[in-house]
Amino acid sequence: MGKRTADLLIKNADWIITMDGERRIIRDGAIAVKGDTILDIDKTDIVESRYGAEKTITAEDRVVIPGMIDSHVHSAFQLSRGLADEVGEQKFLFERMYPYEGCMDDEDTYWSAVLCTLELLKHGVTCFVDPGNYRIDETAKAVEESGMRCIVAKSSFDIGKSSFGSIPEAWIETTEEALERAETVIEKWHGKADGRIRAFASFRGLNNCTDQLIQGLKEIADRHNTGIQTHCAFAQKTRDMSLDKFGMTEVERLERLGVLGPNVLLGHVGWLTPAELLLMQKREVCAVACPSSTFHNGYGNITMGHIPELLEMGLSVGVGSDHASSGIVDMLQELRIVGMGFKETRIDPKIMPPERVFEMATVNGAKGALWDKEIGTLEAGKKADIVMFNTMRPEWMPLYNNPLVNLVYSATGSSVDTVIVAGNILVAKGEAVSIDEGKVYAEIKRLTGKILAKTGLGPIIKPKWKVV
Ligand SMILES: [Zn+2]
Repeated sequence: MGKRTADLLIKNADWIITMDGERRIIRDGAIAVKGDTILDIDKTDIVESRYGAEKTITAEDRVVIPGMIDSHVHSAFQLSRGLADEVGEQKFLFERMYPYEGCMDDEDTYWSAVLCTLELLKHGVTCFVDPGNYRIDETAKAVEESGMRCIVAKSSFDIGKSSFGSIPEAWIETTEEALERAETVIEKWHGKADGRIRAFASFRGLNNCTDQLIQGLKEIADRHNTGIQTHCAFAQKTRDMSLDKFGMTEVERLERLGVLGPNVLLGHVGWLTPAELLLMQKREVCAVACPSSTFHNGYGNITMGHIPELLEMGLSVGVGSDHASSGIVDMLQELRIVGMGFKETRIDPKIMPPERVFEMATVNGAKGALWDKEIGTLEAGKKADIVMFNTMRPEWMPLYNNPLVNLVYSATGSSVDTVIVAGNILVAKGEAVSIDEGKVYAEIKRLTGKILAKTGLGPIIKPKWKVV
């Protein structure tokens, strides 16, 4: 019997971490790809005996993994790097990030998203969940051009002023407007760009949203067979304000509203009570930890958080880099922080093994994105979203018996060599293929002055040391 033809054959991979149901790790592995789908994955001699291919990549000295999923990153915040340091949660949002985002026009939003896709791709992320903004067409355009996957969402609030703070004028909508616009975004973008773009319903946080808005968005998400996401229990203040205003914690409020379920994705979840953990388990809610976000401004999400317990209880918890204002957008660094953070605060070396941590960036992320039938593992029939790391670098040496150790503890996204999404090579030899990096940097440099002038944040973020 003759060989079948694949479009792409990756062979002689030193290690393939498949994340399949058995969590197989294949030595001298190969992957055959046709179109946007994995045809076969096994030992090189086996796959080579079955398939010939037009294009072959030899992956010696490479560790191959499923494309990682960043489960919470605001693409519109990519130009906020340096604008929101050393501030607590209220100042961070209401005096820095919201004024910044509130000033953004289409051009700023587009280039922010382009920079975000570039940084994500170069660090081995093939899919991200955007918690939402107000210029979705710009976000979607950047994602479509980049070749990667994304969940877009329109942000929404319908309470302009709460005890937590006041939101920018431009964002204030009635409940009806917010619902109508959220549905329009889902109708326009869900399943677009050859299926690479999906859309969720989203509300920005609980304290600035009415019961009607939250229930209405959940109804829209259910009707369109998609998900709904929000920020939840991200700081002590958000929890205390919920107790003050609604007489219950945030997850308790969602339960009372009847919206908890497997298509609900809760970001941060740093200040949950034991009762909230049990509600999340009962309703099979998915969650996202945002490690560098809490490390950057000290929200207490690791010190007070219960991510190890949520995982132990069988819940799906992903990881999100949240935004560029808390540093590099690099999932491997997020994984290192979340794993080590809990070991340190719990004084327990076994609490977050690298295998469990890596599941957060792959299978758990895919589940939270409601995309686990297609992505998150390397298996025949799944989408060909594949990342290869070059291990011929000091931080990968030596590599003894377990590549997960090197991956989670010592590697960074800078050692990403090749990134493939839906069968298309988007990063080769560490360089972006689908995005013109030089043009991106020139545009970002051009926009920096414009954004400082518009937001008025220039004098506030002035250097502490003399600039001569
Ligand atoms: Zn967020």
